[in-house]
Amino acid sequence: MKLYNTASRSVEEFVPIENGKVKMYCCGPTVYGYQHIGNFRSFFFEDILKRVLQYNGYDVTHVMNITDVGHLTSDEDSGDDKMEKKAAEEGKTVWEVSKFFTDIFMKDMELLNIIPPNTFPKATEYIQEQIEMVKELEAKGFTYVTSDGVYYDTSKFPDYGKMARLDIEGLRAGERVEFSEEKKNPTDFSVWKFSPKNEKRQMEWDSPWGKGFPGWHLECSAMSKKLLGNHFDIHCGGVDHIPVHHTNEIAQSEAANGEKFVNYWVHGEFLLMGDEKMSKSKGGTLTIARLKEEGFEPMHYRYFLLNAHYRKKLNFSEEGLQGAKNAYEKLKERILSLKEKAANENLTDTPNNYKEKFLEKINNDLGITEALAVLWTMLKDDTLSANQRLELAYDFDKVFGLQLDKIEKAEAADDIPGEVKSLAGQRMQAKKDKNFALSDELRNKIKEMGYEVKDSKDGYELKRL
Ligand code: AMP
Ligand code: ZN
Repeated sequence: MKLYNTASRSVEEFVPIENGKVKMYCCGPTVYGYQHIGNFRSFFFEDILKRVLQYNGYDVTHVMNITDVGHLTSDEDSGDDKMEKKAAEEGKTVWEVSKFFTDIFMKDMELLNIIPPNTFPKATEYIQEQIEMVKELEAKGFTYVTSDGVYYDTSKFPDYGKMARLDIEGLRAGERVEFSEEKKNPTDFSVWKFSPKNEKRQMEWDSPWGKGFPGWHLECSAMSKKLLGNHFDIHCGGVDHIPVHHTNEIAQSEAANGEKFVNYWVHGEFLLMGDEKMSKSKGGTLTIARLKEEGFEPMHYRYFLLNAHYRKKLNFSEEGLQGAKNAYEKLKERILSLKEKAANENLTDTPNNYKEKFLEKINNDLGITEALAVLWTMLKDDTLSANQRLELAYDFDKVFGLQLDKIEKAEAADDIPGEVKSLAGQRMQAKKDKNFALSDELRNKIKEMGYEVKDSKDGYELKRL
């Protein structure tokens, strides 16, 4: 399997640290607002990466953090904490804001059929680990204290900015930002921030340096160490994380642990809106809920995302999404017609090499768009039986995640409410369990809701009365 590594700027053969196992850390959402469909492009690409690894037989341990403290409105250690700011605006506690947006994020992940990571650690639940890491950095001479926090001295880490290829001398000359008087170098960053003198923060903790909260980059170093170890295989995020967040994670982790942090840095390109990165600060963001209001299902958006390589910028447009919707609906029809054919044919097994072709595409730095073309060619190949094509489609869908095995006739023919479908599913189970009293009761309930349920070869069919 080949993967592009930002660290070497080249496509490399993927070799895990431990045979058959992959440890992967992905930077997750900051839960002060709705995650937009741009953010989900990153989580989607990470999901594809994980699915491809699993398809290749790897046992993947996947961690995605939830940032619920310390992410400031500016990447330069100034400005407000995004969480505290939102809570003040809404008149809510930070914890309420965090729970509200985390719940919606989780729901959207499920709607997009993104396989949940093994762990979703929250920054606020790993404060002690973060303090320990600052202590370690301090003991090794990498930190200094200013009036507003404990800072990491980037001049002490010789490889600082190597992965991002930062021009440190250029930055030193002051090209990047105006930086605080007290910082020794423009690239230095806070690992612990003090609470403001005359203001009580909702989230603050005691530390050996004073009451405060961790710097944003620190959580990923501390939590990945705790959950995946000092040195692990893959670290992902959007390309915006390369020059600051991931650069600082490397500096902290390698200085504190005294060993290499990550083998493969894999970054996803942006979703653009009118030639600019879709982002909350620029306005004009869209959510999964908003797409639904416009008549687009989460699977239509997932199909839309399958049409671009993860390292290419993708322009969002309603026409583009409409095109994806049409193609996905066609795919559903194709699957349904194959299901019908499959029920009435003899099982045959025509030799073919679609699986090899598919594997070749996905293993070439996640060539998902070409893999989708293989799916379509295979589905149209009449030399294969319907059964064979369905089997291959369901197999490929372990990577696409388009829920092809859930496509039911009734759903395609009619917009039947989820509750009715769920009752029909329960009725099928009751019949399987030979609980005919319950199955009749469920049939009547479905009737009361205006639908008729009938048994069919594939399970059941629903019809509006
Ligand atoms: P945030 O909630 O801002 O910390 O972002 C969560 C993830 O979304 C990060 O990995 C970002 O790199 C990524 N991201 C933010 N905006 C976009 C975008 N327009 N397209 C793709 N990924 C994005
Ligand atoms: Zn991170």
